Amino acid sequence: MTAAAWKSTACILCECNCGIEVQLGGDDGRHLTKIRGDKAHPASQGYACEKPSRLDLYQNSASRLTKPLRRRDDGSFEEIEWDTAIREVTQKLAAIRDEHGGDKIFYYGGGGQGNHLPGAYSRSTRHQLGMKYSSNALAQEKTGEFWVAGKMLGGGNRSDFEHCEVGIFLGKNPWFSHSIPRARVTLREIARDPDRCLVVIDPRRSETADLADIHLAVRPGCDAWLLAAMVGIVVQDDLVDHAFVEAHTSGLEEVLPHFRELPVGAYCEKAGVEEDAVRALVERIARAESIALFEDLGVQMNRHSTLVSWLQRLLMFLTGNFGRKGSAYRSAQLVGIGDDNTPEGTRTPVTGARIISGLMPCNVIPDEILSDHPNRFRAAFVEAANPVHSLADGPRMREAFEALEFVVVVDVALTETARMADYVLPMATQFEKAEATFFNFEYPANYFHLRSPLLEPPDGLFSEAELHARIAEELGVLPDSSVKALREAWDEGREAFRACFMEQLSNDPGFFSMAPVALYRAIGDRLPHGLAEGAAVWALCQIAAQKSPDSIRRADFQGDDPGTLGDALFDGILEARSGVIFAVDEWEENWKRVFTADGRIQLAIPELYGELDGLADEPATRSDEEFPFVLSAGERRSFTANTIIRNPAWRRKDPNGALYIHPDDAQRLGIADGGRARIVTRRGSAEVDVAHSDRMQSGHVSLPNGLGLDYPDADAPGVSPNELTRSEDRDGFAGTPWHKYTPARIEAA
Ligand code: SF4
Repeated sequence: MTAAAWKSTACILCECNCGIEVQLGGDDGRHLTKIRGDKAHPASQGYACEKPSRLDLYQNSASRLTKPLRRRDDGSFEEIEWDTAIREVTQKLAAIRDEHGGDKIFYYGGGGQGNHLPGAYSRSTRHQLGMKYSSNALAQEKTGEFWVAGKMLGGGNRSDFEHCEVGIFLGKNPWFSHSIPRARVTLREIARDPDRCLVVIDPRRSETADLADIHLAVRPGCDAWLLAAMVGIVVQDDLVDHAFVEAHTSGLEEVLPHFRELPVGAYCEKAGVEEDAVRALVERIARAESIALFEDLGVQMNRHSTLVSWLQRLLMFLTGNFGRKGSAYRSAQLVGIGDDNTPEGTRTPVTGARIISGLMPCNVIPDEILSDHPNRFRAAFVEAANPVHSLADGPRMREAFEALEFVVVVDVALTETARMADYVLPMATQFEKAEATFFNFEYPANYFHLRSPLLEPPDGLFSEAELHARIAEELGVLPDSSVKALREAWDEGREAFRACFMEQLSNDPGFFSMAPVALYRAIGDRLPHGLAEGAAVWALCQIAAQKSPDSIRRADFQGDDPGTLGDALFDGILEARSGVIFAVDEWEENWKRVFTADGRIQLAIPELYGELDGLADEPATRSDEEFPFVLSAGERRSFTANTIIRNPAWRRKDPNGALYIHPDDAQRLGIADGGRARIVTRRGSAEVDVAHSDRMQSGHVSLPNGLGLDYPDADAPGVSPNELTRSEDRDGFAGTPWHKYTPARIEAA
């Protein structure tokens, strides 16, 4: 028997989206039976961690839906035909728009790890129905960082861990949470090289900390004091890179007074770390050729998260770590994820929360619904996301969704959010359609991977691109004449196609929002390798060729003008089945991407001075007898996954996701290793399995993410962390939740 062919695709379990190759098999030929790293993928180069080996649990989930569902009056669902589903959903959304305004329908989601094209295609639906407000998982974590990076650099930045002398992970355990290509290889390379230094700042002795040269076990939730002390040392010991600061930054004199008198020793004590160790680390940073730093959920879902994002960048930029090999950079991107272009002062309609990068804070969503405010949300359009399970304060989120007049959920499976919907529209999986991720942050060579489908969707299912095109047609906003003109122009040649596209744009500026579905309808079936959903990428390539022509030419795409260059790039993406390097940069390029008013890094962020100065009087620890522990709600472990894996078989070991607790704490409470305990927070309580772990600090406990899902044919193992978190526990600035700082009490069960 001949072996099945290996087909290239990508792992969809974290933002790295490593290239993988898959063999299909099983009884029906629809199972992902063998999976290996794809050596031809330009970033992962054959690397894959242990997680993708069981991606078949996603593809063949028991929660999979194959027919649209409509809720009956008695609360149960009935299956309906697609024509009925699209007609009724469109009519009901349009009725809410006409009666209350489209801005009363909020949009949540648009794609998860590796599933970003739905967000692009939903633009037409959102625009046509006037949906003004949206959010997604980025607002759970990253918006504070986006806002800070926008102020300082005019957009987001990453760091070059491949070449850095000192690599710092702040609230991050890349051994399990990855985020950089070939994470474990890179970590080992830094750790093994005596001239390089791996630094971990984390309350827990993580698996990355095991490799590290320096591990600062900061007290949970006290990173702001530690980072402020580090910047204080740089300022007070004059470790500033004056040549860099003078050449490239503004605002130094405004910032210095906040750090000149800062009591470094007292701040280190509050942070729970030895002052000598902090001074030694800062001294190592100051003499290093280059520093790379990655902040992640340990600080971004914690107290002072926006302040910490600023402080870590001050540390980097005062020591000259931007725009040179091994340091921070701004890469050429196909989509500007991480760039905050939202006008300052844009706020949510009811609570007035700050909107960053176009995203409202997830934690305010219930308050934007559960109100008698005339501008409250009345309906939700949820796509490829599961907010009822994934966002803070599950009980309140459910109450809010119950209160909505209309909810439509677009998803592969019957999720916790889908169960609350009026209509559920089932989609093709990520392996049954063309897909891509917009998380392209590498430097100097950056890559993009437009993936072909591995198999056809089941009868009657299709992709989000098709759904949004059908909604546009139902609304009567995607004229046949427009699609026909584009289609004929494509057949005539690229020059004619570009001219036709530009003509439609100049005739109707609103066409820009309709462009993805118009492109999909016009050329989707003309694209090779089953890449119909890649049609919208054509427009992204045209924009990229305007913005970063030199970077694209260095990646070996040629064209005399942006139009032909963009088309050369698009053709290259279509043909590279394992992904393609689309941009190659020189380090000097970074300075062209500092989009601040004077083109220099802005050190000063006055909005954060109050919070910074307030650290002096703020107690680092809460003396709370009722809730003496800090719960880290939603830790990423070896076999945690986001909620797209809806199968209890995913967890071979530790099926219930044990609470990790320091042995001394457990002994004091009389809780055995492998025993049970009750965890109580201000929001709720749950019974949990317990595992003793000396990786935890005393007083700090953790629960994994991705558990507590409702399965159709099995009990829900584990605890959903958001049954224990509260919506009001959030960053005062960006509104990001404090999942890593949930006051808790532990009792023997
Ligand atoms: S690092 Fe692991 S989980 Fe992340 S994309 Fe790669 S293989 Fe998947």
